[in-house]
Amino acid sequence: TEELLRKSDKLSVAGQLAAGLAHEIRNPLTSLRGFLQLLQHDLKDKKHYFDIMLSELDRINFIVSEFLVIAKPEAITYKKSDLVTILQSVIALLDTQAVLCNVQLVLEFQSDIPEITCSEMHLKQLFINLIKNAMEAIPKDGQIKLIVSLHGNDQIRVRTQDNGIGIPEERLKQLGEPFYTTKEKGTGLGLMMCFKIVEAHKGTMNIQSQVGYGTTIDVFLPTYTGEHN
Ligand code: ADP
Ligand code: MG
Repeated sequence: TEELLRKSDKLSVAGQLAAGLAHEIRNPLTSLRGFLQLLQHDLKDKKHYFDIMLSELDRINFIVSEFLVIAKPEAITYKKSDLVTILQSVIALLDTQAVLCNVQLVLEFQSDIPEITCSEMHLKQLFINLIKNAMEAIPKDGQIKLIVSLHGNDQIRVRTQDNGIGIPEERLKQLGEPFYTTKEKGTGLGLMMCFKIVEAHKGTMNIQSQVGYGTTIDVFLPTYTGEHN
């Protein structure tokens, strides 16, 4: 429980920070981008500099967008949805990329999975993040399995299982901390956003991993009860 409390404290501090910062940063970014494009038109021989500046701007913009999702869980709108359909569309979205990385994406589900109350957009974002992390953890070729099953009477478990590099035990507790990344081009915001989305859906997320064997992430979500989650 102490560990859980610590994590949600971190999330709320980061959320407050993000809410303030994101807006302040976004507006000047948009105007900078516009003026850069105007200048680029006049200084055609300096194209290389502009390419770098524009790509740096886009990177800042990307980081701010990741933050915005975390910052505004109250802006999420919920409706009754079919989780398997959501996962199928996520897999369709990432399949080409997976094939290019020699990764096989597999979805397994029980036939009697009940509906849930959720924001489809945010759940898609959640599983896109988990699958992308899994793909990035697979060095050569491998498999990512999504297994959907009923857990008790009132929860659905989505297990995302990869056979990638795994995560050392001592690093597991850092997952979900803002900016914790082991990747050169990582933001370290993906998992934090995942925890935030799951929390907003009144669910839980567990991460288990073994170095050299792979990582298993369980997301538990409450089934539809007729009232708002
Ligand atoms: P990023 O992907 O930008 O690094 P994330 O918050 O998505 O940020 O992930 C944080 C870190 O957690 C990653 O840098 C990686 O070290 C670790 N991680 C997350 N998912 C996996 C996974 N499936 N297998 C191995 N490591 C993972
Ligand atoms: Mg990530």
